[in-house]
Amino acid sequence: MDTHFDLIAIGGGSGGLAVAEKAAQFGKNVAVIESHKMGGTCVNNGCVPKKVMWYAANLAHAVDDAKHFGIPAERGATDWKKLIKGRQDYIGMINRYWDGYVVDTGITRINGKAHFVDAHTVEVDGQRYSADHIVIATGGRPIVPPVPGAELGITSDGFFELQSQPRKVAIIGAGYIGVELAGVMRALGSDVTVVALEARVLETFDGMISDVLMAEMRKQGIELHMSFQVAGLARTDDGIALDASNGERLDGFDSVIWAVGRAPNTRELALNVAGVETRANGVVPTDEFQNTNVPGIYAIGDITGRTPLTPVAIAAGRRLAARLFNGEAESRVDYDNIPSVVFAHPPVGTVGLTEAQARERHAKVTIYQTDFTPMRHALSEHGVTTAMKLVCAGENQQVVGIHLIGDNVDEMLQGFAVAVKMGATKADFDSTIAIHPVSAEELVTMKTPEPEPETHHVVDSGVEWKDAS
Ligand SMILES: Cc1cc2nc3c(=O)[nH]c(=O)nc-3n(C[C@H](O)[C@H](O)[C@H](O)COP(=O)(O)OP(=O)(O)OC[C@H]3O[C@@H](n4cnc5c(N)ncnc54)[C@H](O)[C@@H]3O)c2cc1C
Repeated sequence: MDTHFDLIAIGGGSGGLAVAEKAAQFGKNVAVIESHKMGGTCVNNGCVPKKVMWYAANLAHAVDDAKHFGIPAERGATDWKKLIKGRQDYIGMINRYWDGYVVDTGITRINGKAHFVDAHTVEVDGQRYSADHIVIATGGRPIVPPVPGAELGITSDGFFELQSQPRKVAIIGAGYIGVELAGVMRALGSDVTVVALEARVLETFDGMISDVLMAEMRKQGIELHMSFQVAGLARTDDGIALDASNGERLDGFDSVIWAVGRAPNTRELALNVAGVETRANGVVPTDEFQNTNVPGIYAIGDITGRTPLTPVAIAAGRRLAARLFNGEAESRVDYDNIPSVVFAHPPVGTVGLTEAQARERHAKVTIYQTDFTPMRHALSEHGVTTAMKLVCAGENQQVVGIHLIGDNVDEMLQGFAVAVKMGATKADFDSTIAIHPVSAEELVTMKTPEPEPETHHVVDSGVEWKDAS
């Protein structure tokens, strides 16, 4: 086996595989070092298993609604073992795809944990490998705070290992992973409690999103205990208890999930030996071209602390390879206007500035906002709200932010994100003919809100059409 390469990627996740694949396509001699399974967090403990569970939860909701459409269907207990087996078989298929792909593309796979020996050399299980270019793509891991009894809880990694369905689960944290797991577990029949330090779920999102999601979560029967600072976990006769710093106790959980954030995987890399700077929290800072402070060493993906999403890590990897090996000197990721979806129930889609951010940055901000019950829920017992907001800036009303919550917004956002990236204005949206009857038509039919933000109640079925178009 070669021990010198044009490029070594440390980490076979979204970013590492992307940079390796692209470099190999440019004819370079490439190695990927991976200590676990190929595919990284997204495939094994993130996007993929999460989305399978989300689909299962959607089906559960659909079965609940079916009778209102005259379809006889009754839901029994979730067959957890079958669901988990199907999910893991699917992941196994993706792992095997990557294993084969790496071989087929001539990428050298090195199994094990890497650490630096010098700026161009890493060591794995006592064997040294060198490269002209080394890319750190080691991702992150879930944080567990050092409170008494913390070990009684599991993390999102542990959640994906559960062999039986928790009956009563507490989720600590109301960021995107917390609300996603809460929606899934509730739909599949568990009692779900969410506790969080913040006053609102998805606190960094536009306020409209938090408001609607909190209302919808409560409608589903999820208990929300906000501004709840977990001081410790304890084993009791009833199960596991959460103790808050104000003395409050919530008891009787058979599973507690920490979803309080992720930390970068820098600890075991011996970056100091190579002279690579890290921040106090372990993040490896880079410039806009993914360069670290050491020439020939780069960092991409979650380890950089910037927009921790799979497509961002992939884009950073591919563009870095194009810059290093294909003469594309300006190839880099534009970190502005990155669209993202939270697979909550209902899902959330967002791109660009929140209303609050826009008001800080722009003198003139115009908000268009609507909420309605989509046709999908016209016959359901409990309609699920859809809400949409366009944030426009300047006299020409450039659309600088789109915030969506409701059924199908996860699939709706991508195309609108292209429009935002291209600098579309409200007039461009208005000049686009609507598709009917779909929820997305609301985005191109919103009316002038001044002086108050508009809230009109339009049902995309055309059944209720109160808005004077
Ligand atoms: C529950 C959950 C849900 C998510 N859902 C989504 C989603 O819906 N959409 C989305 O875009 N993103 C989602 N993400 C985020 C996404 O998974 C990450 O942004 C993405 O995986 C980052 O890619 P990466 O290459 O930086 O790191 P990773 O994919 O984490 O890959 C890093 C790899 O490096 C390996 N490694 C670490 N240290 C070493 C070492 N010293 N030597 C060798 N190998 C090492 C690890 O084993 C790992 O395989 C989710 C994450 C989680 C946890």
